[in-house]
Amino acid sequence: MSNKLLSVRDLTIHYITDDGVVKAVNGVSFDIDKGETLGLVGETGAGKTTTALGLMSLVPDPPGKVVGGEILFNGKNMLKASKHELRAFRGKEMSMIFQDPMTALNPILTVGEQIAEVIQLHDKLSKAEAYKKAAEMLRLVGIPDERMTEYPHQFSGGMKQRVVIAIALACNPQFLIADEPTTALDVTIQAQVLDLMAGLRKKFGTAMLMITHDLGVVTEICDKVAIMYAGQIVESGDLESIYERTCHPYTKGLFGSLPSLSKKIHRLSPIPGLMPDPSNLPTGCPFHPRCPNAMEACKSRAPVNTEIEPGHFVRCLLYESKTGEGEK
Ligand code: SF4
Repeated sequence: MSNKLLSVRDLTIHYITDDGVVKAVNGVSFDIDKGETLGLVGETGAGKTTTALGLMSLVPDPPGKVVGGEILFNGKNMLKASKHELRAFRGKEMSMIFQDPMTALNPILTVGEQIAEVIQLHDKLSKAEAYKKAAEMLRLVGIPDERMTEYPHQFSGGMKQRVVIAIALACNPQFLIADEPTTALDVTIQAQVLDLMAGLRKKFGTAMLMITHDLGVVTEICDKVAIMYAGQIVESGDLESIYERTCHPYTKGLFGSLPSLSKKIHRLSPIPGLMPDPSNLPTGCPFHPRCPNAMEACKSRAPVNTEIEPGHFVRCLLYESKTGEGEK
């Protein structure tokens, strides 16, 4: 039996605006096995959140449009699913935790009502049973169930994010997308929320896509890493190959000069220059205007994804010439 849970192939998402076509995601491919966590890393504007919204079929349309690709979840192409199937699927099979817990919570419902609502919708339980399970979920994320009747504004930021996690995991989904789940929290609370997520992931065996720009989060919680730039994955592989045998000039720039799993690197280093405007991407390799290794060919030839060791892929002309290989 296949262990593959999610397989994304050539996902391409554009936003059609009055000012032109914003090419947010350009041919993204990755796989996630059951129980596995992939860290999607990159600067703001790299296309990470749009990729996540694409997986959840939540790209606002218009102006957004999935213009190509496949999202296979347990072998089923989610891009061909009906609205009814998608509604049943979200929450039950796949859930998402957003950066700001306040936007995910309804200010006029108690936290107990909000968790119970999701459980009732998907698990077809009675109101009383759903409420009981909601109290269990709240305890599981470290909040005493006496607080079931309180409203979101009565909770601190970290506690609110715990409630959001309880809602996301209430129906025991197979797959969880966490979009910078700790960015809005202060540092000590960040660590607690991450520990909680790591513990729950183990307990439930949930697979996860962790979107982050924090390399500490990646080393703590992820099995594999994909580095995103200008709507493409430019390097991907398991944690060790990415940290110990970094290849792509962009990844090297992000990690500083000598990345290592044994060295604590918590923040991405700034790279000179800016992420290109996705409505006006450079020709050839989109990183060429910022790349310290750029060659003449990089201005006109778009590199393809090349496997340089088993499971380690790089999208850079330097490595194509080494292997003489093509697309994954
Ligand atoms: Fe740099 Fe060229 Fe490789 Fe792009 S293809 S990352 S510009 S060396």
